[in-house]
Formats: sequence, structure tokens, C-alpha cells
Amino acid sequence: KKVVCVAPTILTKLQKECATPLPVLRRVADAMAADMRAGLAADGGSDLPMILSFVDNLPTRNEKGLFYALDLGGTNFRVLRVQLGGKDERVVATEFEQVSIPKELMFGTSEELFDFIASGLAKFAEKEGAKYHLPHGTKKEIGFTFSFPIRQTSINSGILIKWTKGFAVSGTAGKDVVACLNEAMERQGVDMRVSALVNDTVGTLAGARYWDDDVMVAVILGTGTNACYVECVDAIPKLQSHNSSSGRTIINMEWGAFSNGIPLTQFDRDMDAASINPGEQIFEKTIAGMYLGEIVRRVLLKMAEASDLFGESNMEKLSTQFVLWTPHICAMQQDNSQDLEAVEAMLYDVAGVKSNLNARKIVLEVCDTIVKRGGRLAGAGIVGILQKMEEDTKGQIYGKRTVVAMDGGLYEHYPQYRRYLKDASLVSCFSFLSFPPFPRQTWELRMKAKKNLEAVDKLVR
Ligand code: ADP
Repeated sequence: KKVVCVAPTILTKLQKECATPLPVLRRVADAMAADMRAGLAADGGSDLPMILSFVDNLPTRNEKGLFYALDLGGTNFRVLRVQLGGKDERVVATEFEQVSIPKELMFGTSEELFDFIASGLAKFAEKEGAKYHLPHGTKKEIGFTFSFPIRQTSINSGILIKWTKGFAVSGTAGKDVVACLNEAMERQGVDMRVSALVNDTVGTLAGARYWDDDVMVAVILGTGTNACYVECVDAIPKLQSHNSSSGRTIINMEWGAFSNGIPLTQFDRDMDAASINPGEQIFEKTIAGMYLGEIVRRVLLKMAEASDLFGESNMEKLSTQFVLWTPHICAMQQDNSQDLEAVEAMLYDVAGVKSNLNARKIVLEVCDTIVKRGGRLAGAGIVGILQKMEEDTKGQIYGKRTVVAMDGGLYEHYPQYRRYLKDASLVSCFSFLSFPPFPRQTWELRMKAKKNLEAVDKLVR
């Protein structure tokens, strides 16, 4: 017989297994710093690929001209054009469009996906107004932000290592994605040249640096997650022949692949086993937007099967993978009403289950537990990066302002997640920098709208 008290028992166990007290945060930050070093020492040296971006210089604000940018992220692709006017005028004009990627293209062929992107770009380029000026006789140049793991071969070429975030497009892995785009542009009659291929984190870092000279790290928390930072070439043992005039280069960490020291539950292991990339992207599967809702769904289903949490409701919808999205659990967590009416409606509309007030409270606790773990672990990861930079510079960044540029829909739209991330990063950051005198402004998190950032991809050459 089903027993009512089983759901709270599952909840307590979940909270215990997902707990991220300071020692766990410290362990994760230490492991992140250690994995960064191992990944810089040799390819395959750790979970973190620590990919060279070939971006050695960042925007100076003197950039002038018309630039296009294209961003292939997860759920959407975006096209943008911007007219830059140099130091005084900065961004003269900018326009931006977002197109969601049809589900079937995520499982189709490489040609189909890139043709879809090129035709979106063609339509956007047609609408270029009089505000934009390109010197006569020059070809339009485009910065391509591509947020999947790439083995970068030059500033404008890179081989796709693998698709992530639920993409399973055939025929792209092992190919140069710029060549794929160029071929599609040719098929679609688009006359543009890709001058830079960058990861979205690198685009975020460059874009944020356009406004603030102290930006050293960029983190994306959206459908997936990733981070990059400014590294000294001397600190990259695996680097053999790379001439950087600045002595620095941006490292794309692909930190979604990190896995050391993360507290996991049976729900995480089951989700991983059922995913298209089992055993991979464990950090991403614990902290990123694509997965938080799905973990919550798995917990709720287990509770509903083991107790009468949702009474006699039909469990068909709740049994469907990925039916509960992170924006759904986010919306539920914003419900401050006494009866939790929005939670009730959401559970019924999205998951097809009826709930009493007690059940809704348990649901909110589950959401909070998963979101708390995600946000706090993301915060610990950021601290790991700062810790590595701090150790390498032997305290030179100590007390200095260091800005971490943040972007992505999860960070942008989920207030609870953001708060947990900040709490955890502050508490664990201060614990490793706890020697006096206390740093005044060691670092701060900044967020800027994605659409302002990606325009400057082109400029990082
Ligand atoms: P992408 O990562 O696909 O390039 P975004 O950075 O816009 O694009 O992130 C989209 C992701 O952000 C969604 O998959 C979702 O997980 C998360 N997200 C979007 N809106 C919300 C919201 N209102 N609340 C919580 N998470 C959200």
C-alpha cells in the first residue's frame, strides 16, 4: 500500500545527497583548479579540454565599421549586425533577430541544419537599412559564435568534437564547422566571409571587455554551460608553437565536462544513463538549464510512484522525459500565493497531475533542492577559476577588481539560481582569500544582455 509519508522521506534523502556545504564547495573549487592545470599540461590530461581559442587580443573600443554576428547556441540561433563608431561613438546602431531551431533539425543532417541557418542569415541581411555602411568593394564579414566543443585550428576554423545539449546532427562531427557554414551560405546565395569562429563564452568575454577592462572570466549558464578566461601563454605547457603578441590567450574550458567532487544522486545517474551522451558533461547535467527541470521531474515521478503524492492522477505525462522544463520550475518557485495556485496550475497543465497544498509544498522543496545544488556548484566552479588565477599570479590579483561576465537564459531569468550562485561564490571565495587585509573588491559578477555582447566577436582577431 502507498504511504503518504514516503514523499517527505525521499525529499529528506534528496536534500542530504544534494547538500553543498562549504567543504563540498571548497572541494569542487580545488578540483576545478587542479583539472584546469592538468588540462593545460596535456590534451586529455583531465576532464577539462582547456581549448585554445586563438583569440589573443581583446576589443580596444577603437573598432569601426559594420559587423555581422551569428550565434548557434542551443535552443535558438541569433543573427546580429552592428555599426561600431570607435572610441567616442561606440555602438552606433545594432539590430538583432532570434530564430528557434526546429526540433527535427536537431536530429537531422548537417546540411539541413546549416542550410536553415544560412537562409535565416540571408533573410536578415536583406533587411539591412541605411544606417549601416560598408566601404565599397569589401565583402561582409561575419563572426560565428558556435557553442559546442570545437578543436580550434585557427581563428576562423575548427573541427566539431561532438554535439552536446541534446543535438544529434549527423555528419558534422570531425568536420570544420566554418566550412559547413560557408558551403551552406554558397548554396543559399549569401555573400559573406566568416572571419572569426569563437565559442559563445569567448564572445561573451570579448563583448564584456568592450565595456570593462577588468573582465577576465566569462561564464554561460543557459541550456548548457561553459566558461573561459584569460590565461598567460607561459602557463600553458601543452602549447608548442603559438605566437601571441600579447603574451596572453583566451582558454575555452568546456567546463561542462567537469565531474570531480560533484554530489550526485540516483536521479542524476538515471538521467545520465538515458541521455544521448552517457558519462559525459556531468557538471553541465547538474547545473545547466536543459537538465534542472528533468531532474525535478524524475524525483517527482519517484515520489508519486512510492506514495499518494498526486492522489489518483494519471502519471502518463509525468512519466515523459523532459516534459518539465527549467522555466516551469522557475515559474513555480515565483508563486508566493497562500494556496500556491500557480504551482497547482503548472503541475496540472504541464505534468497532468492534481495536487493538494501539501503536495505542492513538497514539489517546491524539490525544485529548491535541485536549483540550490546547481547554483551553488556553478558558484564554486567560478571560484575554482579565480583561485587558479590567484595562485598563478602569486597573489597579484589579490585585492584587485576582477570581473566575471555572466550570460545565458538560466542566469538571466532564474532569480533563485542567481542568488544561490552568488552566495556560494562569495562564501567560498572569501574562505580561500581569508587572510588579512581583506580584499576590498576582489571580484564581482556582471551581467549584460547577450544581444549586446556578440556583435564584437569579429573584433577579437
Ligand atoms: P542557449 O543556451 O540555448 O543559447 P539561452 O542562453 O537563452 O540560450 O538559454 C536558454 C535556456 O535558459 C533555456 O534552455 C532554459 O533552460 C533557461 N531559461 C530560459 N528562460 C528561463 C526562465 N524563465 N527561467 C529559468 N530558466 C530559463
